[in-house]
Amino acid sequence: MELPSDVKLAAVSKFHPVDAIIEAYSAGQRIFAESRPQELYAKVKELDGMRDSDGNSLYPDIEWHFIGHLQTNKLKMVLPYVSLVQSVDSLHLLEAIDRWGKDNARVINVLLECHVAAEQTKQGFSEEEIRQVLTGERQYPNVKFCGLMGMATFTDDMTVVRGDFARLKHLFDEFFSPDFRELSIGMSEDYRIALEYGSTMVRIGTMIFGPRVY
Ligand SMILES: *Cc1c(COP(=O)(O)O)cnc(C)c1O
Repeated sequence: MELPSDVKLAAVSKFHPVDAIIEAYSAGQRIFAESRPQELYAKVKELDGMRDSDGNSLYPDIEWHFIGHLQTNKLKMVLPYVSLVQSVDSLHLLEAIDRWGKDNARVINVLLECHVAAEQTKQGFSEEEIRQVLTGERQYPNVKFCGLMGMATFTDDMTVVRGDFARLKHLFDEFFSPDFRELSIGMSEDYRIALEYGSTMVRIGTMIFGPRVY
């Protein structure tokens, strides 16, 4: 898989065992992304338990991202362990993360998930809601807005996919700053197109780990 050197790769390891993560780690991969709190937590703990004879972690520099729907009662399973929550998809969640950050003296890095796809089922803010969050009165002192995450419509029609990515890129450019600089678009099937629309981070599962068995 060929990526420009300034584009980050989040290896989506959901539904794959820790062995698969270790194999990718050995090949140099460091960012891993999970979409279910329990699964993330179990993998973090399992990998953390793997130590050399001096007691040092074998995988000290894995960086975890969370990319799934996050319920507010699961924050403590996720926020202590991740460097980025890519999938902040509601005000309710955003407020809960800010409160958790305050209670734990942390600033949590997040991406706002923007819903541009045709499917109703996909999570996320509308473009207008994102503008309101980023320009509104309400402040979130324990949240750092690092950019946007989005998914294109699931379709073979690449003009639709391009349209979705173009909207995300447009919104991203409106708010681009030294802090707000990640545009997380592109998965196994559409990452090449996402790169044309300014993706700074792709989230790839199937192409790295093979098909998921649900
Ligand atoms: C599962 C998932 C991916 C990876 O999808 P692949 O098609 O396997 O590359 C990327 N982003 C999100 C949000 C996902 O849930």
